[in-house]
Amino acid sequence: MNPFIQLGIRHDIVNAISELGFENPTPIQEQSIPVLLTGSNDFVGLAQTGTGKTAAFGLPLLELLDFEENYPQALILCPTRELCLQITNDLNNYAKNMPQVHVVAVYGGASISDQLRQIKRGVQIVVATPGRMLDIINRKAIDFSQVRFVVLDEADEMLNMGFQEDIDSILSTTPDEKKTWLFSATMPAEVRRIAKKYMTDPHELTMGTKNTGNANIEHEYYVIRARDKYASFKRIVDFNPEIFGIVFCRTKIETQDIAESLIKDGYNADALHGDLSQQQRDKVMKRYRDRSLQLLIATDVAARGIDVNDVTHVINYSLPDEMENYTHRSGRTARAGKTGVSISIINGKELGKIRQLERVIGKKFVKAEIPTGFDVVEKQLFALVHKVHNVEVNEQQIEQYIPRIMEEFKELSKEDIIKRFASLEFNRFLEYYKNAPDLNAPADDRVRFEGERGERGERGERGERAPRAGSAEFTRLFINLGSVDEFNRGDLLGYICNNTKISGRTVGKIDVKGVYSFFEVANADVEKVMTGFKGIDFKGREVRIEVSGEGTSTTRPEGERRQGGGYSGGGRSGGGGGYNRDRSSGGGERREGGFNRERSNAGGERREGGGGGFRDFSGKRREDRPERRKRF
Ligand code: AMP
Repeated sequence: MNPFIQLGIRHDIVNAISELGFENPTPIQEQSIPVLLTGSNDFVGLAQTGTGKTAAFGLPLLELLDFEENYPQALILCPTRELCLQITNDLNNYAKNMPQVHVVAVYGGASISDQLRQIKRGVQIVVATPGRMLDIINRKAIDFSQVRFVVLDEADEMLNMGFQEDIDSILSTTPDEKKTWLFSATMPAEVRRIAKKYMTDPHELTMGTKNTGNANIEHEYYVIRARDKYASFKRIVDFNPEIFGIVFCRTKIETQDIAESLIKDGYNADALHGDLSQQQRDKVMKRYRDRSLQLLIATDVAARGIDVNDVTHVINYSLPDEMENYTHRSGRTARAGKTGVSISIINGKELGKIRQLERVIGKKFVKAEIPTGFDVVEKQLFALVHKVHNVEVNEQQIEQYIPRIMEEFKELSKEDIIKRFASLEFNRFLEYYKNAPDLNAPADDRVRFEGERGERGERGERGERAPRAGSAEFTRLFINLGSVDEFNRGDLLGYICNNTKISGRTVGKIDVKGVYSFFEVANADVEKVMTGFKGIDFKGREVRIEVSGEGTSTTRPEGERRQGGGYSGGGRSGGGGGYNRDRSSGGGERREGGFNRERSNAGGERREGGGGGFRDFSGKRREDRPERRKRF
């Protein structure tokens, strides 16, 4: 039997959600639907975005309301217009086979008369943002006297945005006997207080630990010099050719600046912030949803409620002012059971904030190194190879040209042809990244900053300094496990420590490659690592550890060097400039062809890197209304 039927959901709805691909309930649905279906409890659900909470409250509402009647019976309050539209859309999808269900979305920035007209026509479920809802109530255009259920979705966000008073006023127009269901990603004291105020003995459900980030998110940070921030950011993006990311800035101006620079440098990016008109914002969001945009540069406020699946990376170009915003930001990735990475680009002075965040979300952040130019070139090359391998061939159309193509290539061996195809792009990457500087802040800077702040940082338990990554005190080791074995840096660190019993603190830079990886350990621990891995096998494969090349992270092993050299020289020159890739999978912005990209802004990276063109915003100019959140 369909598990949703077992939970008590009717066939009409189950058929509709099956079409949406809901085969099994998510954990929050499994636990909350039976409770909410009784209709007799107040309810507090502590759940991250992306856990399936819309259906967790939406399906029970569709079961509990009387759709023969046409007056408001349920009110769902949420913080943003985007979320409001999303919930409305989801409910309509679940109720696809129930024509008598009427849901209306009430939100600011759109025609109020349309919304009033829809309300007048008769509606059972109102999904609203607080400001516009209050406006409509004040016009006496809606009657909430028969509301049975109120849902407060993303309650922490609503309070964050200063909607407390509006919510009070709205709820005062609903009957005392109604049931209130509250969902929140985090549970700060303010949310606790409203739970207490509006509810009696609520049933509480916590998915995951309080305030803990989604387990599927890997948190990484890069330490760079402030002046190299933009160049470092681009390097990270270039190292992730398939990125589909949201980049968070602290202010509208910074957001706009970064987006403009990226566009100029040939990236597929756009800005989302409060100075844009609603229409402009909708347009940007549509392009992002359609994946015509690869990078969305956003402020915290503008990005609230963004519900886009498959976001691969969240990048904190600037750390948020409030720690809780970090949870909201990173929660935009790893939705619906997927995995994702949340990256923070910081300078040495901000290390303390990373430690604080680790404490708040209860998870370790992995320190990553800005990839070298060579790393990027290699990554881009193999992304291209992968793309060539997987490209869909239009047999019919290409057929007519094959004889001429074969004729053209007849002198060349298969290997020559492959080399030439790869070189088309590879030469350009090489050209762009030749002489690319190391963008990681020198280790000295970091230690000094930590010392100044009196933090333990990379120091050992008893105060002795641990060896510094990349220094002569470290040895670089090779291990024959990598990303194909589903290791990321964090996993590999854990795996090494578990098998060797060395402390994670004495492990330096970890470089996960495809079928192998490199990691640095303190010289004193090399023997322990070798012994620890003796006789260990991973899924039937013997684990092999070797001392790599000449030692430190700045030195590449011979093999890697040779590989790069093999492709260099000859062919078209890259012409310099930022990559102007067509990496998006959608149409829209995508440039035709792919071979014919114009390269904007010669020397893009270096131009930005040293320029210091990006002002160091102190965060004073913020979009948010002031509130009492925990700040760094
Ligand atoms: P939400 O937390 O409600 O925003 O849901 C996050 C995403 O998960 C949305 O894209 C939903 O369509 C999807 N989703 C919700 N429930 C399920 C389910 N039971 N099976 C598969 N996908 C789901």
